Amino acid sequence: MARSMGDVHRRFLQTMMTLGIVEGSKARALHRYCCEEHGAHYAHDKLDEFIDVINTQLQPMFMQIRKGMSEDDGLQYYALVNLAKTDVTRMSSDYADNELELFRKTMDLIVDSENGAASSTDILNCADSLQTKKMKKKETEQVLNRFVQDKWLNEKHGEYTLSTRCIMEMEQYFRDVYRDLVKPCHMCRNIAFQSQICENPGCGIKMHLPCVARYFKGRTEPRCPACNDFWQHEIPEISRPPSQSLSQSTAAKENTAPTPSASHSRRQRM
Ligand SMILES: [Zn+2]
Ligand SMILES: [Zn+2]
Repeated sequence: MARSMGDVHRRFLQTMMTLGIVEGSKARALHRYCCEEHGAHYAHDKLDEFIDVINTQLQPMFMQIRKGMSEDDGLQYYALVNLAKTDVTRMSSDYADNELELFRKTMDLIVDSENGAASSTDILNCADSLQTKKMKKKETEQVLNRFVQDKWLNEKHGEYTLSTRCIMEMEQYFRDVYRDLVKPCHMCRNIAFQSQICENPGCGIKMHLPCVARYFKGRTEPRCPACNDFWQHEIPEISRPPSQSLSQSTAAKENTAPTPSASHSRRQRM
């Protein structure tokens, strides 16, 4: 039986509505903070059950708090997802038609690319041939900045990738529209954009970079987990402190939660 929502759940949901997406350790810290604020019992390993209660109430509104992995750091994130609109129309209240067309073109470029990224040069070229209304260079750069600010895209050295939020919210859209072009990661089964591909033509499995790093860590010779062929890519390092490793227990991760002063500043913002 699903328990009904209390003030503690409502506080958590309100923060999720403001932030849109939060990293796992922050979500656990927020859970603890909400429990403490409302005098509720806090159990560090019960976040998913806690979220299930909220999700039951969100169902009639076609919303859900969903768990997903970041392609950049391999960490787990929680995002508030709109299930009613699974494509870019969910962005239509914030963006003009030609801006949405630019976003679709950017997604096309990313899906077609080998590394899950689109260069600013390629995106600028697209902006010149938009059907809805062409965009000048300056304007395009501003729109791209907004996509990054609104957490739809990430940018690094002029290369744009899909944000964790974007992938989590539009997963179904990607599976529907790009069908054969998007593949799930062999390790975590989430769809993979920034990834490596097995070079064996008869295999061709994809793995996220953090999944590659985790899988091959400590193995002397990298071999494809599906076909056993030699893995012909450079194995990426997991570039984050070991205290945040996913392989560690939830209890250990609690130690990385923000200090009471961090919780305090969050309270002031709420
Ligand atoms: Zn993966
Ligand atoms: Zn293979």
